Amino acid sequence: MSNNEELKEVLDTEIESNWEEVVDNFDNMNLKTELLRGIYAYGFERPSTIQQRAIMPVIKGHDVIAQAQSGTGKTATFSISILQRIDVTLKATQALILAPTRELALQIQKVVLALGDFMGAECHACVGGTNVREDMEKLRSGCHVVVGTPGRVYDMINRGAFKTDHMKMFVLDEADEMLSRGFREQIYDVFQLLPTETQVVLLSATMPPDVLEVTTKFMREPVRILVKRDELTLEGIKQFYVAVEKEEWKLDTLSDLYETVTITQAVIFCNTRRKVDWLTDKLHAREFTVSAMHGDMSQEQREVIMKEFRSGSSRVLITTDLLARGIDVQQVSLVINYDLPANRENYLHRIGRGGRFGRKGVAINFVTSEDVRMLRDIESFYNTQIEEMPMNVADLI
Ligand code: ADP
Repeated sequence: MSNNEELKEVLDTEIESNWEEVVDNFDNMNLKTELLRGIYAYGFERPSTIQQRAIMPVIKGHDVIAQAQSGTGKTATFSISILQRIDVTLKATQALILAPTRELALQIQKVVLALGDFMGAECHACVGGTNVREDMEKLRSGCHVVVGTPGRVYDMINRGAFKTDHMKMFVLDEADEMLSRGFREQIYDVFQLLPTETQVVLLSATMPPDVLEVTTKFMREPVRILVKRDELTLEGIKQFYVAVEKEEWKLDTLSDLYETVTITQAVIFCNTRRKVDWLTDKLHAREFTVSAMHGDMSQEQREVIMKEFRSGSSRVLITTDLLARGIDVQQVSLVINYDLPANRENYLHRIGRGGRFGRKGVAINFVTSEDVRMLRDIESFYNTQIEEMPMNVADLI
C-alpha cells in the first residue's frame, strides 16, 4: 500500500459504537412513575432508536457520546435521563445542558419542563440577550436543571449566582458544534468550574473524527453510540438540486417556486445575515409573505419571529445557519438551500429541519456552476442521491 492509500484508509476508518444494549419500551427502563407519566402525557408511546440505546447508559452514570440522525429524538434522550437522575427534593442545580443558540436552549427548556411536569422539576433557561438580574435571581433560587448558551452560563457561574457544587451531569447538545473552534474555549472554561466527578454526555447528528478525538481529553471511557456516515441522511427526506447557473438567477427561481413553498411550512437558508435581509426585501417587494431571522436581531425580535413560525402564523422563514441545528417545528416539510452551506455537517443539519421524526420532507439546493463540485462532494460523502428537481416536486411535499 502506498503512503497515500494508507492515509486515506486512516481517514476513512470510522470509529464504531461500543454499546449494543436496547430497551424498546419506556416501561422497562425503571423510570420514576411521575416521569413515566410525563412521557406518556407528552404523547410518546415508544422510545425511538436512539432513546432505546442511549437512555439506559446515561442513567447508569456513564459518560456517553450519542449520535443519531436529525429529528429522531435526541432531546428527549437526554431530558428523560436527566429527569431520572436528579433529586427534586434537593433545591440545587444538578444538571447543566449547553446548546449553541438561544432558540435551541429555549426549545430544550420546554421539553424538560413538559416531561418533568408531574415530578415538579424546575428548568431554567440561561441565555444571552435577557435581563441579567432576573437571571441571577432565578439561578439563586436553585433550579434542578439549567439549559443555556455558553457565554451567559459562564458569566453566571463566575458571578457566583449559579452554584455548581451539586452538579452531576453536563450535557452538550450539538456537541460537534460546541466543540468546534468558535465555542471550544468557552466550553472548557465552564467545564473547569464543575465538580470533577460530573458525568459528561454529548449528542449530535454529526460527530466528525476530530471531535471524537478531543473527547478523550475530558470524557472517561465513554459509551459510544454512533451512526455510520452513509446512514445519516434520512430516507424520508428527498433531496434535489436546481441548476440555477448564476447567482443572479436564484431570485427568479425562488419566485417561481413560491407556490410550492407555501404548500407547507418552509425554511430557506442563506449563508450571511446580509443576504437574509436582502432576500427578504426582494421577496417583500414581489409581495410574497415571508419572515426572516438572524443573529443581528434583538432577542425580543427573535422570540417573536420564532413564536410566529412555531404557531404556523408565518409559514416561510428565511434564515442563516443560526437555525440550522436543533430547531424542531414538525410542520416544516421543505428546506431550501438558497446558498449551499459552507460545510458538510451543516448540510445535514439544515435538511434535517424538515421531515421530523419520520415525517416526509423535501430539500432543494440552488446550485450555481461554481457549486456543482461542492454538491457532488456532499453526495459522495454521505453516499446519498441529490437529483435534479422534478416538475412535480409539489406532489412530494
Ligand atoms: P433531534 O434532537 O434528534 O433532532 P428532537 O429531539 O427534536 O430530535 O425530536 C424530534 C421530534 O420527535 C420532536 O417533535 C419530538 O417531540 C418527537 N419525538 C421524540 N421522541 C419521540 C418518541 N419516542 N415518540 C414520538 N415522538 C417523539
